[in-house]
Amino acid sequence: MLTFLGRGSAFADEHNSAFFIDNGNLILIDCPMSSFEKLNDMNLTLFDHIYLLVTHTHGDHVSGIGMLVDLLQFSVKTPVTIVAPSKEVEGDLFYLLSRIEGCNASWYELINSEELDADWFVCPIQTTHTEELAGKCFGYCLTVDGNRVVYTGDSNTLIPYEKYISDGSYLYVEMSAYKSPVHLYCVDMKDKIKELVDRGVHVYLMHMDDEKRIGEVMKDTGAEFAPLEKSAFTIQDTPRMLDGIFTITDSLYKDMCMNNNTDHQLLFSYLTELGKTIVDADRASFWKWDKRKNQIWTMSATDVDRIIISDDKGLVGKALRNKQTVITNDPYNDPDFNSDVDIQTGYKTKSVLVLPVADVNGDFIGALQLINKNDEAGFDEDIDPKKLSLAALVCGIALESETFLEDSHHDRLTGLKNRMGFYYDFSKRYREYLIAGSGKTMSVFICDIDRFKLVNDTYGHNAGDDVLRFTSQLLESFCSDKDSVYRWGGEEFVMVMRDTDLEGAVKKAEEIRLKLQGSEIVADGNNIKCTLSFGCSLFEPSKSIEENISDADERLYTAKETGRNKVCWE
Ligand code: GH3
Ligand code: MG
Ligand code: MG
Repeated sequence: MLTFLGRGSAFADEHNSAFFIDNGNLILIDCPMSSFEKLNDMNLTLFDHIYLLVTHTHGDHVSGIGMLVDLLQFSVKTPVTIVAPSKEVEGDLFYLLSRIEGCNASWYELINSEELDADWFVCPIQTTHTEELAGKCFGYCLTVDGNRVVYTGDSNTLIPYEKYISDGSYLYVEMSAYKSPVHLYCVDMKDKIKELVDRGVHVYLMHMDDEKRIGEVMKDTGAEFAPLEKSAFTIQDTPRMLDGIFTITDSLYKDMCMNNNTDHQLLFSYLTELGKTIVDADRASFWKWDKRKNQIWTMSATDVDRIIISDDKGLVGKALRNKQTVITNDPYNDPDFNSDVDIQTGYKTKSVLVLPVADVNGDFIGALQLINKNDEAGFDEDIDPKKLSLAALVCGIALESETFLEDSHHDRLTGLKNRMGFYYDFSKRYREYLIAGSGKTMSVFICDIDRFKLVNDTYGHNAGDDVLRFTSQLLESFCSDKDSVYRWGGEEFVMVMRDTDLEGAVKKAEEIRLKLQGSEIVADGNNIKCTLSFGCSLFEPSKSIEENISDADERLYTAKETGRNKVCWE
């Protein structure tokens, strides 16, 4: 019912005060300085009117009122009514406020509770506390969301409140860890509190001087600590977060739409960064699920290189297999948590959220994972997945599009890149080799299996396919990380060798030629021997890609014309 801006007393960091919202109005109970500071971070413009109920005039309950009046007058411009529990306290408050320089009486309305006409207000409850406050210390009886709420304020007795407490009502009661004549001592109160809870009263403890000790004493009573404000209407974080989100989406838009050298990788890194910002997590990663290999791997991740793991391991695997969001705020006690990455990186995972993502057919293809929400409470199972949903959805679509693109660049039979992959690589990876005068050297060869038609005709198409697969693997095994091989067409392959001159290309072609010539290929149950013919050329940046391939092709033709199973380069 009530939320607390602070529930401490005397010399604690935060002093006791609470609030609730009714019909667009904010109702505060007391305003110590520590609460003013929190109110100053909140969006008080959300309210039509602010009511401030004062329980008594001790400094740790009213010291923020003057600042609040100023804030509302100069900045927020929301009207405020200060409600004193009695005429006498009203007089004291008038005395106090009128002596604060710069706190003009016309900036607030000061009334006593008899003059207050509000549905949520029942009555003030006079109680006893220190001697100087005799007759001037109060608690309140209120109606919040249709429930009876009793708030003791500071009190050394529960007696005046008892007639207002009924089953199902909410009692916010002050509680002290130390015995004194001015507060309710927890040891003395323990049985009484338990009895109230057993009767069905919701009891919350506030104005506590030592939470740890009170917690121990009250352990079995069923009473709880009054709930502290968790940015209920805080604005300070929201613009910062929104600003972060907009900065990322703006860069994403500019990079994807106004830059012609983008790829899915960039999109994934922006989207994971976006997810991280939206839920205020420490790390984020985006995973692709390869169902054929039973593996998951990171497409993008904060601070770590690509990780590949088996899909039956860890929380990402669990989310994908079970097709549902997984949240754990205590991973080391979760049997599904895989701590291998923590062990490798020295990072300590405290909370994890995994959102599986689907393609347009609804099949799960990947997952967005967030680690360590920057908040002790960890991830919230309702709010955080909702906040992440759009980023996760776009991740799914991006992953599907990336998978389509990957598939379209590869040949199914051999697994090699195809002609589309070849042109894509020229547009992305080899761009600098295409600039005349850049000083970069690149060579290519095209090769073709000799009399391959005969293999098909003699042993059948399946055997032919096996020969193609074997030859592909052989070519791939000769590729350094500077080289790439492509299936150019039927039984023709192209190899592109960066930072390699013509001599290097010829040498490599010759090695491959000899290797295949000496290989026995098991093809559909037959042992077959095959050979390759090659045409090599140095890539000439002043010519088009097609002209360059055509140069190599002419040399291949020469190799075929002059006996096959040979490498030609002029
Ligand atoms: P040459 O030495 O002059 O290159 O002779 P060749 O028989 O290798 O050349 P040709 O172009 O006459 O025949 C190529 C054959 O490759 C014809 C075609 O059916 C076959 N082929 C193309 N793609 C595939 C494939 O994916 N699988 C199989 N099994 N055969 C294929
Ligand atoms: Mg051939
Ligand atoms: Mg051919």
